[in-house]
Amino acid sequence: MKIYPWLKKTYKIIINQHISKKLHHAVLIRSRINIGSKKLIFQLCKKILCKKSKNIFSCNVCHYCKLIDSKNHPDLNIILPEINKKSIGIENIIKYIKKVQNTSKFGKQTIIWIPKVHLLTESSINSFLKILEDPPSKIIFFLDYCSFFKLKKTFKSRCIIYDIYPPIEKKGLFWFKKIKKYKEKNILTALRLSENSPILAKKIFDSSIWKIRKKFYKKIEKYIKKKNLFKLIKHFKNNTSKKIYWIFSLILDVIKYYYNKNSKIINLDQKKLIKIIKKKNNLKNLYFIINLWKKCFFYIKNIPNVNFKFILLEPLIQWEKIFNFL
Ligand SMILES: [Zn+2]
Repeated sequence: MKIYPWLKKTYKIIINQHISKKLHHAVLIRSRINIGSKKLIFQLCKKILCKKSKNIFSCNVCHYCKLIDSKNHPDLNIILPEINKKSIGIENIIKYIKKVQNTSKFGKQTIIWIPKVHLLTESSINSFLKILEDPPSKIIFFLDYCSFFKLKKTFKSRCIIYDIYPPIEKKGLFWFKKIKKYKEKNILTALRLSENSPILAKKIFDSSIWKIRKKFYKKIEKYIKKKNLFKLIKHFKNNTSKKIYWIFSLILDVIKYYYNKNSKIINLDQKKLIKIIKKKNNLKNLYFIINLWKKCFFYIKNIPNVNFKFILLEPLIQWEKIFNFL
């Protein structure tokens, strides 16, 4: 049963409602960050379309389960943007609704799953509203929605909403420990950098990001020692916003460290660097500099094609002044 432990409760609630024939026709799964909604919906679809299972899970072996695994079940319709398009247009929705309006191919439920609701265009949302008002029978809509994006109130009011959250840190750590590959200090750092999402934290380890981050912090340490923070600029070329965030989180840790050496810092693996910065930056300066990096992060995220070298000048000049390098 491939459901993340922190999503099992939600799975059980939804599937029990389906079994007792009380499940709403439009199920909106809402989360702020990636914590596994895709797997959750996939397993829900599998159970709903499985023909053998007598319990709350799919049997995983019947013909229908196999069809779902190979993404060939005709009653499972996943609506994504068409090739070379970034949004889901009205034509796309209508095409699927027409397809499923007749009874399902295997006489059971038909499912329409929209993995990225925020990609629906305004007109798609409006046509969807009409469909949700008077839905065709035997259709369940699964709508995966990231709460970072706005969604019309009227749309939300026509769905049943299930909010899902990342596990508490202790549970995330427990899940990671089963993989038996990483040091606890590193796991906690990755979890805290990922708002406690074990999935995002694992992505940090699985990609090259963990190594890039370590290397970047080494460079900061090196340039502080060499009294030349400007040399950092050339290391911002790739992953610029991430690197700015890493500096922001590091300064935040120094501030926390000022108040209490035992406070919950993010970058547990960077205590040495935190202490180095604390030595040369007083609390007032730290608050000043963290705001500059915050501004910098905002510009990089919100201004397309911004010149990152130009944006980085101010925080670096000011930080050099604080360190007394100028
Ligand atoms: Zn089955």
